Amino acid sequence: MGKVLIIGAGGVGAVVTHKCAQVPEVFTDILLASRTKSKCDKIAAEVGGNRIQTAQVDADNVEELVALISSFQPEVVINVALPYQDLTIMEACLRTKVHYLDTANYEPKDVAKFEYHWQWAFQDRFKEAGILGLLGCGFDPGVSGIFTAHALKHHFDEIHYLDIIDCNAGDHGKAFATNFNPEINIREITQKGKYWQQGDWIEIEPLSIHQPIDYPGIGPKESYLLYHEELESLVKNIPHMKRARFWMTFSQNYINHLRVLENVGMTSIKPIKFQGQEIVPLEFLKAVLPEPSSLGEGYSGQTSIGCQIKGLKNGKEKTYYVWNNCDHAAVYKEIKAQAVSYTTGVPAMIGAMMILTGQWSGRGVFNVEDFDPDPFMKALPKHGLPWHEAVDQPLAFSDYQL
Ligand code: NDP
Repeated sequence: MGKVLIIGAGGVGAVVTHKCAQVPEVFTDILLASRTKSKCDKIAAEVGGNRIQTAQVDADNVEELVALISSFQPEVVINVALPYQDLTIMEACLRTKVHYLDTANYEPKDVAKFEYHWQWAFQDRFKEAGILGLLGCGFDPGVSGIFTAHALKHHFDEIHYLDIIDCNAGDHGKAFATNFNPEINIREITQKGKYWQQGDWIEIEPLSIHQPIDYPGIGPKESYLLYHEELESLVKNIPHMKRARFWMTFSQNYINHLRVLENVGMTSIKPIKFQGQEIVPLEFLKAVLPEPSSLGEGYSGQTSIGCQIKGLKNGKEKTYYVWNNCDHAAVYKEIKAQAVSYTTGVPAMIGAMMILTGQWSGRGVFNVEDFDPDPFMKALPKHGLPWHEAVDQPLAFSDYQL
């Protein structure tokens, strides 16, 4: 049915490649390209059967991207490199008139700032070019927005309170490692927290608000209020929202390591001079930490990510919780991945499938909640991410009076 170009051969890129290869009736030809071609070749060999072509590309370079896209002629590009490359890859898609999908919004290298405005600015040009840009189609952002759209379509007339809760209760056996790109992960956690309440963004000191949340099949885990990018699009796209927050678990061990690294300056993104060379401490730290794609072997435990919602249906108050649990060892057994990469890569593949099969269509730049959630929700369990829901059960929070 269609050709797909996947850019980025990291933890998430490996999952997207495996999962596209599992659906040959949709993804007829697959090209995996990244900065380091040997990483693409390794993934292609794991998939086997000569299903995957590989190429080297510097995704910071628009001309190189245009040349690669023009020679392979895909219908859709899945960007699972880093957020720094979003704008160059979008520009190349625009020039070649090819649909675009990513899993994380653009960030400038020199400020840790997560905002959609740089990518939303492509709206008119994507429309004129007749192509679709699907932003933030991983798990969170991604499935978190689809869960919310599903809740609004099937369970609520008005959503008033949204809490996205994200738990990784896995153990990879390393003293300290991040489950997705360390640079992006640490930038996200060390910035100020932020949530949306009655039309305003409330800013808090990093990791300063936390409480235990009882996750299904896992139990209570300390969860920290963070800013997360899907909040920006959800408060814009979901009407009647009074408050929207995002929570993520961290172990005490993780927080202790992070504090020490911060205290000694290793998480800084300000360049310093070292032996006559300019280096960014956080980039150096990334180089010595384990790669996310290497964590799968021996990883035990589960992730649990979902949306807890309170609102109105037929004039009555209603609560709703929708979630997925994903087991690290099970996904390692399936495709040698870990659950954080898997829960990101599967939705990216499904998003591309929605575009190629015409189940999601449009011209311009969209977030996932702009589309009908039904075909996506149907595809999730089929491709490895079953979901569950609980209606009118007590939620993790009791502070619903503003
Ligand atoms: P990794 O660091 O494992 O992989 C990133 C890959 O991108 C690497 O293979 C890297 O190449 C490649 N890359 C980096 N820069 C370039 C460039 N200039 N040109 C070509 N390739 C490049 O990260 P992850 O796989 O863990 O994460 C991938 C993306 O997924 C990130 O944007 C992350 O934020 C996002 N994500 C989204 C989530 C969600 O739920 N929405 C959750 C988790 C992650 P090299 O190997 O040479 O360094």
